[in-house]
This record gives sequence, structure tokens and C-alpha cells, in this order.
Amino acid sequence: MGTEVIEYTGKLITVAKADELYDEVYKGHTFLFTLNDDWIIDANQGGNAAKWINHSCEPNCIPVLYEDEHDRSQDQVFILTLRDIKMGEELNYDYGISFDIPYTARLKEIWVCHCGAPSCTGTMLKPMDHERRMEP
Ligand SMILES: [Zn+2]
Repeated sequence: MGTEVIEYTGKLITVAKADELYDEVYKGHTFLFTLNDDWIIDANQGGNAAKWINHSCEPNCIPVLYEDEHDRSQDQVFILTLRDIKMGEELNYDYGISFDIPYTARLKEIWVCHCGAPSCTGTMLKPMDHERRMEP
């Protein structure tokens, strides 16, 4: 547990550039990792094997952000294990995807989850930040 598996790498782009390049909301899969409010790692450009790690509602790994307090463009993401992983077992983590738009039936269909975990929520979408704050 807590073993570093791989760094999520790719070209560092701004959130604005990502919006310009990709229509992630309606794609249903992503090779982008949001680092912080300003920066995104674009694994479409120079990404490593980390981009192939799938989403799961019961993940065996977790992405951990290593923040650079002086320069947020230097932040890094590493995929760490949450428990011991057997030989040949597929790695996965919770993508924690959220968009700041209403979750329509179409959007839920696009981001449907087939991870097969007993606790699968059926969607990769997480409540939007303001909804999460409103939860008791
Ligand atoms: Zn699932």
C-alpha cells in the first residue's frame, strides 16, 4: 500500500487550452488530468502508460498530487497503490470526474461506468463541487 506505481505524464497545458483543443465533456473518456485550477496534464501529447489506467468505483490505486507551493505549473501526479496488488491484477483509480454543468441523462450515458465493482455507482461523474458542499 502506498507504493508509487507511475507518474501521470504528458504535456502541460492551461485549462483554457484544453477547452480549445478538446471537448472532453461529451467524449466519455479522457487522457487529461486536471492538476489544479490553472493547469492540465495532456497525456494525448507525450503521455506515458498512466493514461491507460481505467476508472473504477472500487479502485486499487489513487492519484496523489505533489504540490509545488511556489509554482503550481510544477505540480506532479503520481499513481499510488491503495492496497497490495496481485500479479496480473488490473490497476485502476477513481477518476473523480465532475463538470460544472447540469448532469443530463445524455451526460450520464456518456460517462456510464462498467467497472463491475459491487459498489459501482453506474457513473464516473461525481457531484459538482457546489453540490458536494451542500451535502450534510
Ligand atoms: Zn463503477
